[in-house]
Amino acid sequence: MTHPSTTHLLPLLGISTMLRVCKKCSIEKPLELFAKHSKCKFGRLHECLDCKNKYHADRYKSNPQKHIEVQKKSFQKRKDTGADVYKGVRNYRKKYPEKHAARQRERDALKLKRIPSWSTEQDREDILKIYELAKKLGNLFGVKYHVDHVIPLNGENVCGLHTPTNLQILESSLNVRKSNKHSW
Ligand SMILES: [Zn+2]
Repeated sequence: MTHPSTTHLLPLLGISTMLRVCKKCSIEKPLELFAKHSKCKFGRLHECLDCKNKYHADRYKSNPQKHIEVQKKSFQKRKDTGADVYKGVRNYRKKYPEKHAARQRERDALKLKRIPSWSTEQDREDILKIYELAKKLGNLFGVKYHVDHVIPLNGENVCGLHTPTNLQILESSLNVRKSNKHSW
């Protein structure tokens, strides 16, 4: 919700001062926080983005399998018409290489069964933060940094876990040398 005293700051953030009351939650918000819709008044829906997102999230939770099936079908349909269906994925990878790297690492760890059952959503977030930090360090020092498992997931003598505490940020050249060996 926008506090009245901060309204004058909104144009500085590129947000218009025009406010609208959401029909669902009845909260007054800047127009930018409503989903775009060409056929609606002012080109926006009467429902705010929070409410719209919540609606879709709830629908997904009520029947994830159905949602996945629908997605698969529409993907195939677009693919059949010759559309560049991977464009969005490519752009996302380019924009967020650290998120992509974190997900790839998670997949590897899943395959190797190195994600413990007691791992939490917070652990996932913490892991992503480590990847984001590695990216920031890289930008800062102009050297590539990798996120590495302190104890390798598929080590020669001992196997580590895919947890935040088993991750470290290393300069890429060091990481390559370290390989899968773990010295005690
Ligand atoms: Zn709302």
